[in-house]
Amino acid sequence: MERSSRDLLARCIYSELKAGMAGAHGGVFLDARHLADSEFASFGHEYELCLERGLNLKNETAEVAPSAHYCMGGIRIDEKCRTTIPGLYAAGEVTGGVMGANRLNGNGLADILAFGAIAGAEAARFASRVEQVGIGKDLIEVEDDRLQGLLDRPPTSSRVSALRQGLREIMWNHVGVVRSEESLSRAAGLLQGLEDDLSAIGLAQKSWVCNPELAAYLEAENMILVGQAVARSASVRKASLGAHHMQSACSEERDTDLPYNVLIRLHKGTLKAEAQPAVGEGSVVQW
Ligand SMILES: Cc1cc2nc3c(=O)[nH]c(=O)nc-3n(C[C@H](O)[C@H](O)[C@H](O)COP(=O)(O)OP(=O)(O)OC[C@H]3O[C@@H](n4cnc5c(N)ncnc54)[C@H](O)[C@@H]3O)c2cc1C
Repeated sequence: MERSSRDLLARCIYSELKAGMAGAHGGVFLDARHLADSEFASFGHEYELCLERGLNLKNETAEVAPSAHYCMGGIRIDEKCRTTIPGLYAAGEVTGGVMGANRLNGNGLADILAFGAIAGAEAARFASRVEQVGIGKDLIEVEDDRLQGLLDRPPTSSRVSALRQGLREIMWNHVGVVRSEESLSRAAGLLQGLEDDLSAIGLAQKSWVCNPELAAYLEAENMILVGQAVARSASVRKASLGAHHMQSACSEERDTDLPYNVLIRLHKGTLKAEAQPAVGEGSVVQW
């Protein structure tokens, strides 16, 4: 089981934790004491890391639990790593679709090398062709006014850091290893509440430059938006597929089912999700 795929192992640990089998730190126990010394060689790095922290896996158990490891969804790109915004290229974990529903071991680093090279070369080619990419002045003014409005709010005692912790808990509890229609709908409500709470926060620091409080606020806005996008698109896929595991799904998606991608976009402040066939008649649908 320890050598099984990460999603399966995470679900097994999750079900043990849900059954009340958690240790003092909320994890389950990894026992490698029965392994021969030679077998430790295949995870020498992890063994050394634990040893540096005072834990010898050869004669002690380690308390472990799943955590967020990789984001399988992300920005849509084409084969040249172009996004839908002219001049904006993306590669790596921020993109979606490259790994399908479950990433194979080691492919995260292969992804950033292969697609990073393409994105860099294409971005350079684009930049050599254009004088300057026009950003609408009106868009800048709107954002300028929005940020000024945020800085003008009187300081409040509620902190962005507490909201960020709340976000982590919502995502873990309701959009985590095992999901259900109920948990995803609950997450949507809680995330909306978090968004409302954030928009009521006033910052103590008022500077436009070198303002870590402002940076944390803007990051929290984006983190909540990404959380909403993940929860919303997960709710479109009713059956389990890859690392997306629906508790109440009566079946897994099968190879014979027509594969589809879930596309999500922000339209006039609202997230719109749609299922789009992944494969057309004999050909892959253009992104
Ligand atoms: C615990 C763990 C183990 C893993 N093990 C493996 C493995 O064995 N093999 C494998 O193939 N993959 C592995 N992965 C996955 C792989 O490491 C990642 O998918 C890969 O590193 C992603 O690279 P990236 O450049 O796309 O993104 P990142 O490495 O996340 O780089 C994004 C960078 O952008 C910076 N950044 C973020 N916001 C801003 C901002 N606003 N302004 C400026 N900079 C910003 C961040 O600080 C970061 O440096 C592992 C991941 C984890 C978490």
